[in-house]
Amino acid sequence: KAWCRAHPKIELHAHLNGSIRESTLLELAKDLGEKGVIVFEDVEHIITKSGRSLPECFILFDLFHVIATDHNSVTRITREVVEDFAAENVVYLELRTTPKNNESKGMTKRSYMKAVLDGLSAVDTVELVSSPFGNNRLWCTKEKDMCSPSLSIDRRETTAAAMETVNLALELRDSGVVGIDLSGNPLIGKWQTFLPALTYAREKGLPVTIHCGEVPNKEEVNAILDFCPDRIGHACFLDEDDWQKLKASKIPIEICLTSNCKTNCVPSIKDHHFVDLYSIDHPMILCTDDPGLFSTSVSNEYYLAASTFELSKSEMHHLAFIAVDSIFADDGSSIFWKRSLKAMKNDHG
Ligand code: IMP
Repeated sequence: KAWCRAHPKIELHAHLNGSIRESTLLELAKDLGEKGVIVFEDVEHIITKSGRSLPECFILFDLFHVIATDHNSVTRITREVVEDFAAENVVYLELRTTPKNNESKGMTKRSYMKAVLDGLSAVDTVELVSSPFGNNRLWCTKEKDMCSPSLSIDRRETTAAAMETVNLALELRDSGVVGIDLSGNPLIGKWQTFLPALTYAREKGLPVTIHCGEVPNKEEVNAILDFCPDRIGHACFLDEDDWQKLKASKIPIEICLTSNCKTNCVPSIKDHHFVDLYSIDHPMILCTDDPGLFSTSVSNEYYLAASTFELSKSEMHHLAFIAVDSIFADDGSSIFWKRSLKAMKNDHG
């Protein structure tokens, strides 16, 4: 466990509000209860419950959406989330979030993102991580430089709203935004609704990652694989022919072991499709999805993979390093992480 924590790691699939500290979530929910915005007792047991089903998770996500309509809370949550990832030696983090509109709170998607970016700027601790290889290299400088945000399109959105999110992402590229994600309740929304915005993002050179196969939906899985995103998340419910297509495509997969188990997308961790994909060297990245929601951490996901699939330290090194090839950031300060980790991979991989 200590080894997994000490090893420099890359996290590419974490939702901002799903990564909220439980103590902060309780505090903010209590505060909203006192203000009469929500009934705290209605949500308290869901917040403290472990082992939620996917539908229960989406009840909690609705609460996140209420909490996230306050700019100051968004800034605080962002700062804390990045600090928490950095504290466990995540040296490069792609943090995704759904820009939110709420007229009554004076929040627009743009002002929501400003609050997120303010939270990133508020992280300025200099955190030095010593190399686990004992060669005196230091791998982390400013925590705030280690995080690249991505913008999520919510499956509840219209084509126009999805397009607005892509335009915002393009506008915020200079502020460090690196990509577009499609997420939200997989039982809601149609692929055709989001396709124009995703195609536009691609045309503009913005990398795209898509939640794929969280529920059985052959038609959509097929369409996603034909779209050939830069990465996909989960890939739990795929037919044999789609598996073959995915394997041939070599599209990197964001693997979320705890999330997939807790939401019953896979029967158990040992039965996870990781095993099959690992045996053919398919590009994979170990991720948390929602560490706050699922009470996990990147280190824990590494530990789970190592212990369940009996992977040696050198195999775990390799898994950590190949994640570099799948990151979206390609310019500015973020390229530093790519180079550093690639150098590290060459030294030890
Ligand atoms: P936010 O985008 O920062 O508000 O993070 C929470 C949101 O991410 C949720 O409301 C969902 O839309 C999305 N999300 C988090 N986890 C999942 C997942 O496992 N599947 C699909 N969408 C998810």
